[in-house]
Amino acid sequence: MPPPAAPAAPSPRAPLSAADAKELLKVAALRATAPRLAVMQLLAEERRPLSHTEVVQRLGSGEWDQATLYRNLVKLTEVGLARVASEAAGVKRYELRGAPHSPRQLHPHFVCNGCGGVSCLPEVTVAQDPTALLALGAGWREAALAASVHFVGRCPACAG
Ligand SMILES: [Zn+2]
Ligand SMILES: [Zn+2]
Repeated sequence: MPPPAAPAAPSPRAPLSAADAKELLKVAALRATAPRLAVMQLLAEERRPLSHTEVVQRLGSGEWDQATLYRNLVKLTEVGLARVASEAAGVKRYELRGAPHSPRQLHPHFVCNGCGGVSCLPEVTVAQDPTALLALGAGWREAALAASVHFVGRCPACAG
C-alpha cells in the first residue's frame, strides 16, 4: 500500500519542516526554542555550510542577538545535529548532519578563492586508500582520518 500523501508544506522553500526540526530536537533532548528551530531550518534551506556571521546576517535582524544565535549553533553541534563542515580561512561553518541536508553525511567542500564562499559537493566521493593511510606514521594516520576534504578554486559564479 502506498504511503498517504504528505500534507502540503507551509513554505515551499522549507526542506526541514518545523515539526521535523522539533522531532530532531526532542530526540536530542533539547528544547525547541524559536531561535533553535530557525537556525536548523536555515541550515537545511541553504544546503551549504554557514558561518556564524552568515547566520546572523539572515536571522539576526530583529528578534535574536548574535550571542543567542552563536550559542544555538554550538549547542546543535554539541548534540550532533549539526557539525562544523569547514574551518577554511579560520572561519567555522556549520551544516546539518545527514538528511535532509545531504544524502551523504560526509562530503567534500569547495572553498572559493574569489568570494570566500564554501559549498557542499555531496555528489563527489573521495575514497580513502587504507593502505596509503597505514603507510602514514602514527599521529599523521589519525590526523588524516579526522581531516576533512576541501577543494580550493573559483566557484562557477566567480569563474564566469
Ligand atoms: Zn566564488
Ligand atoms: Zn556540506
